[in-house]
Amino acid sequence: MYDVVIIGGGINGVGIARDAAGRGLNTCLIEKGDIASQTSSWSTKLIHGGIRYLENYNFKLVRESLIERDVIKKIAPHITIPVRFVLPHVPSLRSSWIIRIGLFLYDRLSGKSTFEKSKFISLNETFKENPIKENFKSGYVYSDLFVDDSRLALLNAEDAINRGAKVYLNTNIIKTVRGEDNWSIFLDNGEVLKSKAVVNATGPFAISVLNNIFGIKSKKKLRLVQGSHLVVKKIYDGDQAYILQLNDKRVIFMIPFKKKYTLIGTTDHEVEDFENPKITYEEKTYLINSVNSFIKNEIVDNDIVWTYSGVRPLIEDNNQKASKVSRDYAFEIDDRDGAPILTVFGGKLTTYRKLSEQVLKKLSKYIVVSNKTWTSDEILPGATDININSENIPKKILQRLIETYGAKISKLNEYYNEFNAGGDLIFEDFYEFEVKYLIKEEMARTSEDILFRRTKLGINFPKEAKDKLEIILKRHL
Ligand SMILES: Cc1cc2nc3c(=O)[nH]c(=O)nc-3n(C[C@H](O)[C@H](O)[C@H](O)COP(=O)(O)OP(=O)(O)OC[C@H]3O[C@@H](n4cnc5c(N)ncnc54)[C@H](O)[C@@H]3O)c2cc1C
Repeated sequence: MYDVVIIGGGINGVGIARDAAGRGLNTCLIEKGDIASQTSSWSTKLIHGGIRYLENYNFKLVRESLIERDVIKKIAPHITIPVRFVLPHVPSLRSSWIIRIGLFLYDRLSGKSTFEKSKFISLNETFKENPIKENFKSGYVYSDLFVDDSRLALLNAEDAINRGAKVYLNTNIIKTVRGEDNWSIFLDNGEVLKSKAVVNATGPFAISVLNNIFGIKSKKKLRLVQGSHLVVKKIYDGDQAYILQLNDKRVIFMIPFKKKYTLIGTTDHEVEDFENPKITYEEKTYLINSVNSFIKNEIVDNDIVWTYSGVRPLIEDNNQKASKVSRDYAFEIDDRDGAPILTVFGGKLTTYRKLSEQVLKKLSKYIVVSNKTWTSDEILPGATDININSENIPKKILQRLIETYGAKISKLNEYYNEFNAGGDLIFEDFYEFEVKYLIKEEMARTSEDILFRRTKLGINFPKEAKDKLEIILKRHL
């Protein structure tokens, strides 16, 4: 008998599983695909207060998010990078006093933060290279945190497992039966699980899961808003990112990505279908034109090396503009006819840890839950110091591995040693030992799991290398 079964292995599901397991609850998570195989790997990858939410007067969300910025930096330093964001001044869109008030609030709401405060700058003088057109002279700079979103989810899942949770991946629920005190959950592998409570953390799928698997009609509605990104060949040198104000009052980001690329996004495109989101022609054109209205060396279609799209599961608040719909989260509990089910609506990557704490608080009405919150103090796997000298892995591939796995490279080193010189070479600095490590230690099963969620090696990855990877995968599965 589980205390809680969580459906959905996106950031919210794994965050709840980690917190629950750490509080000693008998915890299980069921994910129909891979960890973070939906929205949680398709974000802009920012742990941020969300400077633009100030315009919607959403101070509570901004404050909570800014505090989380410091917490996530502390518990996951190996997969996060503090980034300075440059906001070129566009007087016709927002006056300088509005921006100054906004940034003042942003700094104040951060409380005692380790992040650099905002300031006014000259675009040409502050950074090594200024990619912005000469007609934009000045701007502002403030701080936020860039994160490897899918690895953040993965590490939460791994920590949940280390603390006793059971995680089923690539597993479907066939049906559920509600009892007075518990749920019976029938899985497609023949197992039947019993649990005192269920959490439905299936993001964009939340309402359909509640309806079709649990037979419950939700009172809340979701607003499904697709956002797309372009990854292009690096536009400029330098570690700073840009937040660009557009004529439609939206903003888009331009962020250095994986040394060779620039990440550009995002859009707000309302959709009804949330399976397999794909960038539309209009979104692509919008992103290219928007960036080109700011940068000196304009980009063209051919510069694009990868695109991705995800669907935001926002709580419907009947706002006319998709970009203005609240990014906050809410819960709905159904306990009328027996054991409880709690459904998560909305949320952001940034607030997953706080959301998880709140879910456990809600569940304490039904199951015995320790009220000791702990997830802000305990680091995620791989976040400890690294002793590089003790590793045999050659220096030329060590850097990427450290940037991806942090202190988990000690474990990778054991796999390296199992093979002669790391085993078969797949592509550039990617060898067989890493594949075996990912299968055995990080629950990878497919080339997509490896190339796009455990790593981002899949960007610009040649077909022959993919074929080779498939052969090596079969060898070790
Ligand atoms: C374009 C875009 C940009 C964003 N940028 C940011 C950002 O920069 N910063 C930020 O903080 N937030 C950002 N967000 C928001 C953030 O990504 C989401 O709020 C968050 O990832 C949602 O996580 P989730 O766990 O609720 O949903 P998901 O990640 O979608 O997870 C739900 C999981 O449930 C699984 N599932 C569905 N049905 C079933 C079933 N029947 N059985 C088992 N499993 C099931 C799915 O496979 C999926 O893995 C962005 C979102 C988008 C779309």
